[in-house]
Amino acid sequence: MRKVIIIGSGPAGFTAAIYAARANLEPLLIASSVEAGGELMNTTEVENFPGFPEAIMGPDLMAKMQEQAERFGTVVAYDDVVELDVDGPVKTVTLGSGKTHEAESIVFATGSAPRKIGIEGEARLSGRGVSYCATCDGFFFRERTIAVVGGGDSAMEEATFLTKFASKVYVIHRREELRASKIMQERAFANEKIEFVWNSEVADVLGEDAVTGILLRDTVDGSTRELPLDGVFVAIGNDPRTHLVHNKLDLTEHGTIWVDGRSSRTSVPGVFAAGDVIDPTYRQAVTAAGSGTVAALDVEHYLASLADAGQPAADAAEIDGLPDAAAVGAA
Ligand SMILES: Cc1cc2nc3c(=O)[nH]c(=O)nc-3n(C[C@H](O)[C@H](O)[C@H](O)COP(=O)(O)OP(=O)(O)OC[C@H]3O[C@@H](n4cnc5c(N)ncnc54)[C@H](O)[C@@H]3O)c2cc1C
Repeated sequence: MRKVIIIGSGPAGFTAAIYAARANLEPLLIASSVEAGGELMNTTEVENFPGFPEAIMGPDLMAKMQEQAERFGTVVAYDDVVELDVDGPVKTVTLGSGKTHEAESIVFATGSAPRKIGIEGEARLSGRGVSYCATCDGFFFRERTIAVVGGGDSAMEEATFLTKFASKVYVIHRREELRASKIMQERAFANEKIEFVWNSEVADVLGEDAVTGILLRDTVDGSTRELPLDGVFVAIGNDPRTHLVHNKLDLTEHGTIWVDGRSSRTSVPGVFAAGDVIDPTYRQAVTAAGSGTVAALDVEHYLASLADAGQPAADAAEIDGLPDAAAVGAA
């Protein structure tokens, strides 16, 4: 049986792995079969991760994090967790391959996915003018014309923030009125750089290698028109990847995993959560990494408290009548 299994290979998962491995906890990290490396694999230059003054490509940063985690003994499995049993002191993780692993503790760091519009040009030009993160990419659009898609609080916040860089920000919204709170709306309405395009949806994102415009469809009469611009920020929501733990861990009203205060402790002892899956607000690589640190340190304390109580999880499993972990064949 493992001391700890980390689920997720983004900045939170790999940082938790670095700390856990350096604490001799010999972590197993389940990285995903197709999306290993997390959200930064979908981007180009990362200019705001400390330590890289010349910027670093997202995939290169993730490769370095993995290298660092493996250097101290992290084992990385390229598979997906398809089932999770967190009841009792022995946690069981089932992978897509059918293999199961047991551990005394789990760090859940599966991130969150920005909602997509779901059109061809959006996917093709993602990272080349299509962005899901104003904090991350706003800086690249100095004196440019851009659009923000969405009508909620985060869309208004992103649009207002982006006026620090862009010369013009269109807000594209499907209806005639916004969902955003009154104060966020008023702030956006008062900003001279923001122009609202009502009753409109993005039918396509235009451009070969970079965004040159969008095709707008009028939601009332169906007519279309092109709007030339340099970038599109999609701000239509974010879905924390929590489907594995529905009805197992408590969630917040935002759909993120509930954790106890500033810790990574979830509602189930021995299960810790870190990164964007617990964070409805900041969602940055460096905050996710910091959160991974918290999780690894919490795991250490948890395991130490089990040892202090003279009841490592393996013994507790036998007491509870669960199968002997060693006989199941952990990794
Ligand atoms: C396009 C884009 C550009 C960005 N640019 C920046 C930037 O410049 N600077 C910055 O600070 N932040 C940036 N961000 C935000 C940053 O990427 C995230 O805040 C950060 O990656 C979150 O880290 P995480 O470890 O919590 O989750 P993620 O990076 O999302 O990683 C979660 C991982 O868990 C895996 N996973 C999920 N479910 C399972 C499962 N069942 N089994 C196994 N694995 C699973 C996923 O496949 C993924 O690999 C950007 C985000 C996007 C989308």
